[in-house]
Amino acid sequence: MKRTCWNTELSVQNINEKVTLLGWVSKRRNLGSILFIDLRDRSGIIQIMIKDADKFPDLRNEYVVQVKGAVSRRETPNPKMKTGEIEVIADQIIILNTAKTTPMIIADETDALEDTRLKYRYLDLRRPAMQKYFDIRDQIKITTHSYLHKNHFIEIETPILCASSPEGAKEYLVPSRIHHGSFYALPQSPQMFKQLLMVGGFERYYQIARCFRDEDLRADRQPDFTQIDIETSFLDQNEFLHLMEGLIKEIFQNTIGYEVKLPLRQMTYREAMSRFGSDKPDTRFGLELHNLKKEVFANTSFEAFQKADVVRGICVNGVAEATSRKVIDSLNLEAKKFGLGGLSVLKLEHGEMTGSFVKFVSEAEKSSLIKEFDAKDGDIFIIAAGPANRVNPLLGAIRLSYGRQLGLIKPRSYDLLWVIDFPMFERDIESNKIVASHHPFTRPRDEDLKYLDTDPTKMLSYAYDIVINGYEAGGGTLRIYDQDVQKKIFNILGLTDEQVKEKFGYFVDALQYGTPPHGGMAFGLDRLAMILGGTDNIRDVIAFPKNLSAVDPMTNAPTKASEEQLKELGLSLIDEQK
Ligand code: ASP
Repeated sequence: MKRTCWNTELSVQNINEKVTLLGWVSKRRNLGSILFIDLRDRSGIIQIMIKDADKFPDLRNEYVVQVKGAVSRRETPNPKMKTGEIEVIADQIIILNTAKTTPMIIADETDALEDTRLKYRYLDLRRPAMQKYFDIRDQIKITTHSYLHKNHFIEIETPILCASSPEGAKEYLVPSRIHHGSFYALPQSPQMFKQLLMVGGFERYYQIARCFRDEDLRADRQPDFTQIDIETSFLDQNEFLHLMEGLIKEIFQNTIGYEVKLPLRQMTYREAMSRFGSDKPDTRFGLELHNLKKEVFANTSFEAFQKADVVRGICVNGVAEATSRKVIDSLNLEAKKFGLGGLSVLKLEHGEMTGSFVKFVSEAEKSSLIKEFDAKDGDIFIIAAGPANRVNPLLGAIRLSYGRQLGLIKPRSYDLLWVIDFPMFERDIESNKIVASHHPFTRPRDEDLKYLDTDPTKMLSYAYDIVINGYEAGGGTLRIYDQDVQKKIFNILGLTDEQVKEKFGYFVDALQYGTPPHGGMAFGLDRLAMILGGTDNIRDVIAFPKNLSAVDPMTNAPTKASEEQLKELGLSLIDEQK
């Protein structure tokens, strides 16, 4: 069955050469006595010409075949195909296997529903566009291994069945058969293990690590996903970030041939939130948020503005006419999702400002609003008032959706930056509890340690995210390496000394035995592959993903456990007891 070469290795250089090819019939065109097939292999597609078509009445799509023949110049070249100038004139075709009619078309353009694609994923994966995503994914890994080894990192695996490691999401639990009533947790990340590897003296660790988080799914999230997980000792923040930038640069070079300019920009969390309303700003377009409370509405008669912590707005150019009642209603609905009563929309049309809220705006305020944004006829202002942690993300989301809708983002353009100086803690909007912004091992900035006992919510941290085109492509922190500080942080997060001892005793203990200053980060491998592959669906770059209801339509996971399995694990189901 030996193939002499891959389909797309052939070109006009090989004319008249005898070749043996292997692959799938991707398309067939029968022109009477002549039959053309597109033969698809791992590398791509080549046209095969079969002169005595009647000999192959059965050659159908997705049959697996071996083709022997000679390379020839094509009469009508196809400039869209890599092998478009040539074809192979078949001497012999051997059918290695047949195929049923497939439930979806196997070509780059497919109208199959996503659940059909996932149910027949092995067919979906045959599509050349899908295979390209996996080439990119693979290249990211190859580059990671080579760059990190060049820089003295060592790859070490850490357990999948572990004790819980808090990263903010819910955990997947695995019941123990041997210890009834006890559970392993699947790692949300190898966080504590990698820190313990620093205590263990490895200094530079990495792992292409599988991680598990039981969260509501979105287009860029999966319950099991892969991180390039990294930890280093003895580097300060900038030394570490520069080392990581080198990796990103090589990854961009080796996957899509794009030159990333180093060093990357660094933007504080505060600036990102206030200018873009997001800690993962897409900075490829403007539409920035402006403060309006003092700047425009200092003397407002509008009570909601007077009372609000912040009044902020954006100005969208040229959409006044398109901003119907319906559009305004949907903007207000968006505001409600972010916990605000609504927002104010003002239009600038025919030299006049209009909108239901305009009666509250004085002439002086009108002109200062126009001046603030340098606005023109046809523009609209979207203004929100309330607490900053609701107003900013709301306007950030609206900004992003206008950016996309108005085509302000150049396709295939890349913008990379670090967002730094995150707060140590934030308040959970629903419970109002203090939670760690990143995770509880994050080190407060030295200059903020003075607030540890008095007002810890004031503390900023050595935490950083790498943001690419508005995606958080990775993030990490320098770590606490002092046992007392670590305990205090756990206490602030609501854990008593007893609970700390019970849950993290081993970890806090280890900090007493000569722990080096250390820090690290994790890149989302799936997210990187998604960004570099040019798709906004994370499932495209994962071979066998779950759908948005966390189900795999192919294997039907998760499935029910049998009575016997449950018994063995010492479990009974509440629903079934009823
Ligand atoms: N464990 C962190 C995460 O998964 C990354 C890190 O801090 O290294 O986000």
